[in-house]
Amino acid sequence: MRSPHTGVTDEVDLLTSKKHIEQLSEEVLDLYRQVNLLYRLGDVFNAGLERAQICQLLIKETCKVLRARAGRVVLDDGFAVGRVIAEPDSVLSVAVETLQGHIGEITLYDKRRGFFTAADEKLVRAVARQAGVALENSRRIAVLTEQNRTLEQLNAELNQIAQMKNDFVSNVSHELRTPLASIKGFAATIIDDVEMPIEIIRDFVGIINDESDKLVVIINDLLDVSKMLSGNLNYTLTPQPLQRVIDEVVTLLGIQADAKGLALHVDIRDPATVNLDSTRMSQVLTNLIANAIKFTDEGEVLVRQWVADGEAHVAVIDSGIGIRKDLLSRVFDRFYRVENVVHTKEGTGLGLALVRGIVDYHRGRIEVESEEGQGSTFTVHLPLAVSGDPTAPEAG
Ligand code: ADP
Repeated sequence: MRSPHTGVTDEVDLLTSKKHIEQLSEEVLDLYRQVNLLYRLGDVFNAGLERAQICQLLIKETCKVLRARAGRVVLDDGFAVGRVIAEPDSVLSVAVETLQGHIGEITLYDKRRGFFTAADEKLVRAVARQAGVALENSRRIAVLTEQNRTLEQLNAELNQIAQMKNDFVSNVSHELRTPLASIKGFAATIIDDVEMPIEIIRDFVGIINDESDKLVVIINDLLDVSKMLSGNLNYTLTPQPLQRVIDEVVTLLGIQADAKGLALHVDIRDPATVNLDSTRMSQVLTNLIANAIKFTDEGEVLVRQWVADGEAHVAVIDSGIGIRKDLLSRVFDRFYRVENVVHTKEGTGLGLALVRGIVDYHRGRIEVESEEGQGSTFTVHLPLAVSGDPTAPEAG
């Protein structure tokens, strides 16, 4: 039989044990929540998330498990996510680290005093380490993705260059074949017809001569571009009036303009002395004016020269077919021809590349403005010669 005294002791023991068990089960439950948190975050962090998502998840899940009011992650590069509460009574700050070291901090806030325990800190430290690894992985993936994008872009550019080279080979073959066929045809006719009158022979030889000139121009362009690329295009720069070069080229090309029924005008507004290689500069103007004539079927071509801001400017203005806005930036590229897109006139696509190379050598710039169907303006800007100019580049 149990004495009442003994009964009281038993009841106290029972109560203590019950409290103990409740405490234990509370601890077990907490432990379960913590382990669960680590597992869950481990899984989602492996899913290749971006850093903002990783930081947001880190805050959300740790606040939930620790029942904290708010949290904020600030990374060393200034990136920040989450919120801070006003006048918190408890603050827990833990480093976010990768294997390489410190990359930021997570801070949790609560209004209750003495709220965060040493066990909480341990847990946040473990989760922050996981987040650190996930952030590092995410950074590496971002770098790889960017590198991949750059490689894809380079690859697309290489394909484009390969395509341009193919177009170039077929254009050049065509450009060479046409005058050659003509030369061969007229020469064969002269040989076959022993009784051909001398005037007709003269006409035919004239045509053969013109067609040979075309061949020479194409071959010279090819050689010049190749020399320019290897830095072997020769220049002799001397101060001279720009007008002289303009007048010479306009006189020569006037015949081509006349043949197409186009007016070719010159408007020299200011005399300008420029440090130039006259052969190369006449190549520039010949290309620009010949293009203006080639791509204009009616109207006029105007060559205007003026001086402003210490530079001489030469604009070649035509009222021709113009150039599509989206193709404008490409026309100075080697081998590039708008015709490869819209197929119209003959050409090799070398002229403007050469023009830009020569203008660059003269420390100048070339710009183009164009309106499709309205015409184009190519403007060359060249520094004026200063007497005894020591800045002239060496020939090369
Ligand atoms: P091409 O031998 O084809 O004329 P260029 O390098 O001189 O080569 O010119 C490149 C391309 O730029 C031309 O094929 C043409 O499509 C365009 N272009 C150049 N000048 C003009 C112009 N005045 N009007 C319209 N298009 C032009």
